[in-house]
Amino acid sequence: MALIVQKYGGTSVGSVERIQTVAERVQATVQAGNSVVVVVSAMGKTTDGLVKLAGEISSQPSRREMDMLLSTGEQVSIALLSMALQERGQAAVSMTGAQVGIVTEARHSHARILRIETERVKRCLDQGQVVVVAGFQGISDAPDLEITTLGRGGSDTSAVALAAALQADSCEICTDVPGILTTDPRLVPSAQLMSDITCDEMLELASLGAKVLHPRAVEIARNYGVTLVVRSSWTDEPGTKVTAPSRLPRPLEGLELAQPVDAIEFDANQAKVALLRVPDRPGIAAHLFGTVAQKNLNVDLIIQSINEGNFNDIAFTVEKDVLAQATTVASSLIPELRGNANDGDTVELVTDTDIAKVSIAGAGMIGRPGVAAKMFSILAAAGVNIQMIATSEVKVSCTIAAQDCDRTIAALCDAFDLNQSPARLLDTPATITGPAVRGVALDRNQARLALRYVPDQPGMAAKLFQVLADRGISVDMIIQAQRCREHNGIKTRDIAFTVAQADADMASDVLQSLAKDFGGSAIVLDKDIAKVSAVGIGMITEPGTAAKMFQALADSNINIQMIATSEIKISCVVAEDSGIAALKAVHLAFGLAGSQEIQVPA
Ligand code: ADP
Ligand code: ASP
Ligand code: MG
Repeated sequence: MALIVQKYGGTSVGSVERIQTVAERVQATVQAGNSVVVVVSAMGKTTDGLVKLAGEISSQPSRREMDMLLSTGEQVSIALLSMALQERGQAAVSMTGAQVGIVTEARHSHARILRIETERVKRCLDQGQVVVVAGFQGISDAPDLEITTLGRGGSDTSAVALAAALQADSCEICTDVPGILTTDPRLVPSAQLMSDITCDEMLELASLGAKVLHPRAVEIARNYGVTLVVRSSWTDEPGTKVTAPSRLPRPLEGLELAQPVDAIEFDANQAKVALLRVPDRPGIAAHLFGTVAQKNLNVDLIIQSINEGNFNDIAFTVEKDVLAQATTVASSLIPELRGNANDGDTVELVTDTDIAKVSIAGAGMIGRPGVAAKMFSILAAAGVNIQMIATSEVKVSCTIAAQDCDRTIAALCDAFDLNQSPARLLDTPATITGPAVRGVALDRNQARLALRYVPDQPGMAAKLFQVLADRGISVDMIIQAQRCREHNGIKTRDIAFTVAQADADMASDVLQSLAKDFGGSAIVLDKDIAKVSAVGIGMITEPGTAAKMFQALADSNINIQMIATSEIKISCVVAEDSGIAALKAVHLAFGLAGSQEIQVPA
């Protein structure tokens, strides 16, 4: 007999009829010989309704009372679904998060799960009951026993955490679409279903705005090797398998608080090519990387930070043995780029072979603003200057001087307590299979901030991101520009990053005093941006993936404001009003569009 955890989202339990349909499906799963734990969300848009209600009473309701209020939504649906099951002659019992013993940290509105008591649930299952659990909620440890919530969309996380704690045979996320699609079908109707995706790819997509799975749910599935499927609530189609690498068994205590960083990676075989002061207009990146791709040269990191006037700096890294070829390609483009430049602002080519790339990686860094700051502080304490920074949701990569590589790794392993699992030397595994781009996502909820003229000394990035972390502000994409400029007689660099729009003003205020400390740095804020990203494990071995994405944007006459990449992701910041056009163009360019439209219920 298998144990299955099934989760049904808001739309799936949005009406009496839908609850009855869910009950029928749950019963069928039991009759097929399984034990079933069901996790449900609040009905339809109940949670939004409750948020609105609170807003009519208070402009800044306390987080504790918000949790008290929002947790009621799920309590309605568990009771109704249990009744519907009982009506069908299926024994069932509903339980709140507290009754199960989903114990979380005492942090309202964004609590992480510490552990899940499994005794009571197991006892009920042994008696042949279906256990219907309220998603999205938990309870803090004694003595306070506060009701907490896990953050919007958190029922997915409840379900996967329960599956991990109960060592269930599988966890099915049942929702209003047939599975995980190549992009959001509400924005791009030609989105297509994927049959499978790796946890690493899904983690990037989920944190990039693919709402179909809560990123923390993917994180738990990955860490505990949970068999995870996303499928339709209405059909028997298999949906999408989210595959996890096999893992060593891991203790269930501190479930969501396990090590935020689980690997230090380095690559001392990289070299850097940078083109400084190229014109800031559509098509430049496409042209550069298109030409590089034609020579079959694989680029690793690509970084383009905030523009300066009408110019950008674009930097990229390649393996050392192809540096000469990459340099020839880049320099061959200089005359035509220079043709567009004004006097005094001429394109310049810079290369450096004495660099190393060092990264921290781990799903646990999502939503933990202090992790990147900690990396930067460790480097600062070791006296290591950071040349370039590029981040993704689950990785922070820095390029540093090659001679600093060994001691940087030692310091990072020590500080992140990774002495048991030594740093991984990155090379290209022959086993990588999968498309160059599996899916694309759009995030319209971000704002871009930049601090110009940050002194080029160890410790500056650490300070900057620590003050933000201290205020609980999560930084998404961090890009440190390539070029050093003299400002007030000292060498400086610009550091740009994106934050959630809701945090933008606070972040900008927090940085004011820091800017003064830095001796006259300037803050630039732009809320009208969107981030479009392409994710796929196959891009590691497929030259030209970035070029194709940049070309798709150029063909739609969309200017790229910033670029950051990781091994399996390319993200571009564009103007907010071209966000959807950018998403559609990239989706189409990678051959992801299908002819059949996916129906999404209202
Ligand atoms: P539930 O209430 O079942 O948790 P959500 O509304 O939270 O459902 O998530 C499902 C929705 O996510 C879909 O209706 C779709 O609009 C949106 N979505 C965004 N990106 C994707 C994607 N890549 N694949 C599938 N759905 C997506
Ligand atoms: N009901 C909660 C929300 O709307 C949790 C969830 O649906 O996952 O955010
Ligand atoms: Mg959801």
